[in-house]
Amino acid sequence: MPGFEVFGAEERKQVNDVLETGILMRYGFDGMRNNHWKAKEFEAAFAKRMQVNHCQLVSSGTAALTVALASAGIGAGDEVIMPTFTFVASFESIMMLGAVPVLVDIDDTLTLDPVAVEAAITPRTRCIMPVHMCGSMADLKALKSICDKYNLILLEDACQALGGTYDGKPLGSYGDLGCFSFDFVKTITCGEGGAVISNFEQYMIHADQYQDHGHDHVGNDRGAETHPTLGYNFRISELNAAVGIAQLAKMDTILDIQKTNYTLMRNAIAGIPGVSFRRVPETGVENYSFLNFFMPSEEKAKKAHAALLEAGVDGSFYWYTNNWHYINGWEHLRNLKSLGRLPSEIKTQMQDLNNTDFSKSDHWMGRTISCLVKVGWTEEEVKQRAANMKAALEQVI
Ligand SMILES: *Cc1c(COP(=O)(O)O)cnc(C)c1O
Repeated sequence: MPGFEVFGAEERKQVNDVLETGILMRYGFDGMRNNHWKAKEFEAAFAKRMQVNHCQLVSSGTAALTVALASAGIGAGDEVIMPTFTFVASFESIMMLGAVPVLVDIDDTLTLDPVAVEAAITPRTRCIMPVHMCGSMADLKALKSICDKYNLILLEDACQALGGTYDGKPLGSYGDLGCFSFDFVKTITCGEGGAVISNFEQYMIHADQYQDHGHDHVGNDRGAETHPTLGYNFRISELNAAVGIAQLAKMDTILDIQKTNYTLMRNAIAGIPGVSFRRVPETGVENYSFLNFFMPSEEKAKKAHAALLEAGVDGSFYWYTNNWHYINGWEHLRNLKSLGRLPSEIKTQMQDLNNTDFSKSDHWMGRTISCLVKVGWTEEEVKQRAANMKAALEQVI
């Protein structure tokens, strides 16, 4: 996920447009901004690329999730189904609104298991939030039919899978709402930033207002605007949006290079007995930001991770114990350690995460290794890396 690797003159030019006027804010100051509307320009270009009617830029991917949930009317006590393997932003954004995260097992897609999702539905469930981790997607068709059956909102967290597709549609555009992050390690970056996309106009009117203190954005006198509902400040700055415009223009090149490098790495290890790959749902196309595979056992996965690092294959991850992306690592969530008092809905409705059986997730995560795919490598470097991976894994198997 390497947008930062291609930062260059184009990004600098965009930022300089903003620096020359000094108008760092996305709203107002019409006469002084020399017609630069970077956030607006990025929103239009991103909506077009994602084949949706609306895009709302915000200050981060975490903010995008919060704004998306709020836009769909999710609030205190509403249950949102999310996976055990994800980034912490999933439960942070839910709990921010007083809503209750319901953690559910993953399967060999490394994303929500539709069977486990259906079993977790209660009368309070309002939303299913699949997270397309490490470049590939959840079984969206199955999740959509569950949403239709129970009248739930489908919110895709596509922060790690920008540019992937499902059923011919860009990831993030298949559900009711989709969210992206442009933080510094994502496929394209704004430094910090995020986006919500949707085809539903009403959600996006809410998103537009909620991310800017409830402003209705009618007319061009900010001070005179009315506020139909309460909101917050999740605005992006013009400087960050400007970087994003230049990065978006490079996105398809980034995806092409990722695919080439991923394929070399995958082909090198594909024949090793006992090594198998993460399942990509039918009609899905990855964004190739990570190569994800399973070792035959937890013990061999641990050894493989150590051997890969030993062989100089940096950017290989064993999420099960070594990182902060799996429930094992979330001691603060499991024990509800908050600075202040939590909403009573969360305290009373939350699963006892220390005593919930996630052995199905453990089964997959315990054996999963993910290798980051970068775009700055030369062909020689990728081939060497692929050969090193093969040798390291063969030695463990
Ligand atoms: C990065 C990320 C986020 C949050 O994005 P930030 O911009 O860092 O707040 C949310 N979900 C997933 C899956 C991510 O990888």
